[in-house]
Amino acid sequence: MRTKIKRCVSCGKYTLEDICPSCGAKTVNPLPPRFSPTDRYGRYRRMLKRMTMKE
Ligand SMILES: [Zn+2]
Repeated sequence: MRTKIKRCVSCGKYTLEDICPSCGAKTVNPLPPRFSPTDRYGRYRRMLKRMTMKE
């Protein structure tokens, strides 16, 4: 699932626009780490590690 929400680099307001509607600064896709696919793989790696340590 993909979200188009962006965050203003100046005031931190969340918007769907490329330009912040309240201050006019540019916005960027915040991409929180918990939504990153690499973190998902990291979780699986940790699970695997725990399983192998158990044995
Ligand atoms: Zn702003």
